[in-house]
Amino acid sequence: MRLVAAITLAMSVSLAAMFVAQAQDKASTSGAAPAGAATSAKKCTNPDAIGLARTVQIDTTGGPGFGFEHFKAYDFLRNNEVVLTFDDGPWPGNTQSVLAALAEQCVKATFFPIGKHAMWYPNILKEVAAAGHTIGSHTWSHVDLSRKKTTEESIDEIEKGFSAVHSAVGADTAPLFRFPALKHPPELVEYLGKRNVGIFSTDMDSFDFKMRKPEQVIASVLAKLKKHGKGIVLMHDFQSHTSQAVPELLKQLKANGYKIVHVTTKDQVKTEAKYDEAILKEFGGNTIGARPVSSVVRTVEEAK
Ligand SMILES: [Zn+2]
Repeated sequence: MRLVAAITLAMSVSLAAMFVAQAQDKASTSGAAPAGAATSAKKCTNPDAIGLARTVQIDTTGGPGFGFEHFKAYDFLRNNEVVLTFDDGPWPGNTQSVLAALAEQCVKATFFPIGKHAMWYPNILKEVAAAGHTIGSHTWSHVDLSRKKTTEESIDEIEKGFSAVHSAVGADTAPLFRFPALKHPPELVEYLGKRNVGIFSTDMDSFDFKMRKPEQVIASVLAKLKKHGKGIVLMHDFQSHTSQAVPELLKQLKANGYKIVHVTTKDQVKTEAKYDEAILKEFGGNTIGARPVSSVVRTVEEAK
């Protein structure tokens, strides 16, 4: 999502709900099996599913860039191949709808969550991980890094994003990054290179954030794929209409002869302790090992 205003609105709307969501997240994870254990092995049983044609593994050493809108060095897709990417989640309802559609069609995608969203809804991101999708990062608070004052501030945004996503998932995540608004300041591209983080631009932006109806998203993606013949497609699991579009989009992709490729990475993100601590501090102090509120504080007497 490129519209900062919209996301700010969404964030303020969700602020009230976030404490509830966090409490629910904590409560439902207590004593649960590690993320991924339950559903990752689920077998695909839909005989009409488009399924995965190929899984590729990226060696992110040196920070390679992908997506022909900005990076032309690595043309790894064959004709008719499509990589599905979803930004700005996790978001209640919408992300799960996307997950259900992907599961139904036996495909895997790459998600670029926003750090704060990941901290608000860790259990949703755990579901993404459990389903076997690849999870990169999309900064801490979705600011356009080309507008940041200092490189240090920008690095904070990048690193806190990685720490938040990693913390929310509670397991390894991919060293893949997508810049908000697809703005790529050179010094940050260089920084990610040193961090061995791959950069994902896109071959085609669906511009789904400008749309209101699922049919528009489907038409946009199909038209752009027809033009390019293949590509990395950028959509937003944050958007309700996009989540509604995915089931039919996948059917249409199959009907039009496209094949889905799953991107994985050779290595995992190595977060930095300084930023791991920073995000935990920002989210209610040191919460390492925290138990659900109800198991720490309970009402023993209450006025009638
Ligand atoms: Zn975004």
